[in-house]
Amino acid sequence: MPARTEALPATGRAIGIDWGVKETATTTGDDHDLPHPEHGKKAADRLARYQKMMARRRPRRGQAASKGYGKAKRQAAKVHKKIARQRRDTARKWAKRVTADFDQIAVEDFKPTFLARSTMARKAADAAIGATKNALIEMARKHGRTVHLVHPAHTTMDCGRCGARTKRALPLSERTYTCTTCGAASPRDKNSARVMLVRAGLNPAGVEGVRPPGAPLQEAV
Ligand SMILES: [Zn+2]
Repeated sequence: MPARTEALPATGRAIGIDWGVKETATTTGDDHDLPHPEHGKKAADRLARYQKMMARRRPRRGQAASKGYGKAKRQAAKVHKKIARQRRDTARKWAKRVTADFDQIAVEDFKPTFLARSTMARKAADAAIGATKNALIEMARKHGRTVHLVHPAHTTMDCGRCGARTKRALPLSERTYTCTTCGAASPRDKNSARVMLVRAGLNPAGVEGVRPPGAPLQEAV
């Protein structure tokens, strides 16, 4: 059953959103970026400690689990729950702000993979992105906003200004996207956020944080 809609007044504005590790969300908006929450890191450290404790106290096959093992397991579950709650809370607050300010939301259709070889930081980032994306879609639906899910392929290779594609993928260490076709230079994630807008068919000109053609190419960070 569809959730009840509480339509918000139209703002006539659109936003592009790119997901990432350091910044959960980088946007074309001036004050809508969402840094990866730090509370997540502290709690994740605690969770790792309890998980190590559990591994140390794990009962041998056919033996009953020790009291210590049970205690570590309960504590790990508690921290896990807390992290999930904080994550959802942060995601909801941000989603509320974005849906209040924008009618059209173009967002990278990111699907977390949680590969075994992923680092802890990557796993935490993916979980934060997943929760944030879900909260955004839910909030937008509730308030009658339009969400455009953008296929993530090549979003880091395309120029958000002229649409040209670079020949090679930008290495992660390269934080600035410089277009060899139109000469535009902007922070890598900001460029990707703009690509979301373009891919969604939303006109970047006049969109907050996007300079119309002819404006200075170097973007202030
Ligand atoms: Zn370009």
